[in-house]
Amino acid sequence: MTGGPAGYEVYAVRYGTRRTSTGEVYLNHDVYGVPDEPVGMDYYLWVARDDRRTVVIDTGFGGSGGARRGRTALGDPVALLADLGVRAAAVPQVVVTHAHYDHIGNLARFPAAEVIVSRREFDFWTGPYARRAQFAWAAEPAEIAHLAAVRGQGRATLFDGPHDVAPGIEVLPVGGHTPGQAVVLVAARGGGQVVLASDAAHYYEELELDRPFAFTADLEAAYRAFDLLKEITAGPGRVLVPGHDPEVMRRFPGAPGPAVRLDCMTIV
Ligand SMILES: [Zn+2]
Repeated sequence: MTGGPAGYEVYAVRYGTRRTSTGEVYLNHDVYGVPDEPVGMDYYLWVARDDRRTVVIDTGFGGSGGARRGRTALGDPVALLADLGVRAAAVPQVVVTHAHYDHIGNLARFPAAEVIVSRREFDFWTGPYARRAQFAWAAEPAEIAHLAAVRGQGRATLFDGPHDVAPGIEVLPVGGHTPGQAVVLVAARGGGQVVLASDAAHYYEELELDRPFAFTADLEAAYRAFDLLKEITAGPGRVLVPGHDPEVMRRFPGAPGPAVRLDCMTIV
């Protein structure tokens, strides 16, 4: 994959948090025979930009979607983007890694954007099985309706396989967590590649210990996604960024607001 000449600045923007436990976040945690332990869960969206372009990856939970589930908002995602100099109303491209409430909750605040989402994800959430309780819990009907409206407006790009969003930014549908969950690969400004796992791996530990997340649409696909992420990040200069791990804020250097810079690590 070739990037722009200098690659992208990549940011994780932390806008929410909660306390939970390993017994709650991992699927059938009791099979591992280890104690249930407290763990934090942070909520992020991501930005890739260079001199010519800005791509926002996911949009965070909306006020009602977060409040309904007892999540703590640390800031308004759109205001936090503004701290980075990103004006949501003018953003030309938004990647939707999957359609859960904490990833598409502010999509309506990006009215000018091409919205890039896997066809499998779009079809699933606008189809009948999304209304069943185990799926419906993690989605907001109004937000799914908005996603459908975006397509109606001709602003949606649906992809079936690896898709180049821009030079040096590629999305890959992997499924597992949701039917069309995608990961995003970004050529980094400092060289190498930032691998945004989104919820294909919520935590570093999820991947390291091979423990799928509590909400998994397709378990075999989730394990396959783990294998793919391990394979991709085994290469030199690849940096894994899980979707909800508080550890991200510790591993990467600070940026304006509650954000960290993901592209300028000295990569081992
Ligand atoms: Zn999520």
